Amino acid sequence: MPINGSPRALDPAPPSAAGIGLRKPRRRPEAAPVPPARGAGAAGAIEAPVFPFSAIVGQDEMRRALLIAAVDPSVGGVLVLGDRGTGKSTAIRGLAALLPPMAAVADCPYACDPGAPAGACPHCAARPGSRATRIVPVPVVDLPLGATEDRVVGALDLERALTRGEKAFEPGLLARANRGFLYIDEVNLLDDHLVDLLLDVAASGVNTVEREGLSVRHPARFVLVGSGNPEEGELRPQLLDRFGLAVEVTTPTDLPTRIDVVRRRDAYERDPAGFCAAHARADRAIRKALAAARARLPGLAVPDATLEAAARLCLALGTDGLRGELTLMRTARALAAYEGAETVGLDHLARVAPSALRHRLRRNPLDETGSTARVARAVAEILPEAPSP
Ligand SMILES: [Zn+2]
Repeated sequence: MPINGSPRALDPAPPSAAGIGLRKPRRRPEAAPVPPARGAGAAGAIEAPVFPFSAIVGQDEMRRALLIAAVDPSVGGVLVLGDRGTGKSTAIRGLAALLPPMAAVADCPYACDPGAPAGACPHCAARPGSRATRIVPVPVVDLPLGATEDRVVGALDLERALTRGEKAFEPGLLARANRGFLYIDEVNLLDDHLVDLLLDVAASGVNTVEREGLSVRHPARFVLVGSGNPEEGELRPQLLDRFGLAVEVTTPTDLPTRIDVVRRRDAYERDPAGFCAAHARADRAIRKALAAARARLPGLAVPDATLEAAARLCLALGTDGLRGELTLMRTARALAAYEGAETVGLDHLARVAPSALRHRLRRNPLDETGSTARVARAVAEILPEAPSP
């Protein structure tokens, strides 16, 4: 099936934006308490079903990027740039709800996979053999802006460790996000060192906490999704290109779309169960496509011609290093897998090029065109036969 659900949405033309030059404003004060991860803890609590992913109107580029990250998490995190109230958090929750629930070691704070003992945490490694398992939903963890480093990476209680000779580690948000999604609203307002740290952990899949010669390491594999409002704060260029994909979201400006968004939101809030039931079929189709794409991905080769075109595109745009090509290739392959294609074609490349490359462009003083438009121009020059992104 097409990745956007409707033929009209197949070629979401991202609005031209004037680059990603964001400015940094004031910091926020300490934030509210950390909400629990969906599905983690909160035993007995009655939760409303999440807004169905298939019922989201518009925001095609964001939805496509999230689906691609779900098919192949190795594309790296997703940075969502744009207005507030455009359904970013809703989309992530909706997507996570479509992923198959995971088997996890019952008493493991990191929800280790019982089927993959090799990647186990110290807790599980110390208790090999048969373990009780539980089935848990894919976690979505919110990282609030005021969170301390201890709260994020986990706290190592030195005094307890030294006086009582026991390892006293209180796992943090990164532990809860293992095997799921970590969402940071307004990542551009987060302390730089915390963003650096998160990107390091996201890239390595391991969280290491060290205090005074003591250290704890545990698995922390998650898809990092950050959002930022370009009008509110800057993201350092050296951080930008560490996100796999960067997408733009905007408040819809056409009347029918706005009415549709409001009508659906209202219908959901009045009757969540009924609204979800009405979209269950469409959600099921996406769930099936996701599962099929994940199964198909390892066997999907990228033809030389596609790889060459990816390299030409990056050369023409002057992206730094080879990360652009690698991300572009993986993203195109995940899209092809999702769409059930036999091969990774130039059209896949063309459609994902803006998301994979717009945040990797060097500023060209002679070319004030926005980065999205620059990518589109390069695609038109180098892949003239492919549909425009
Ligand atoms: Zn474990």
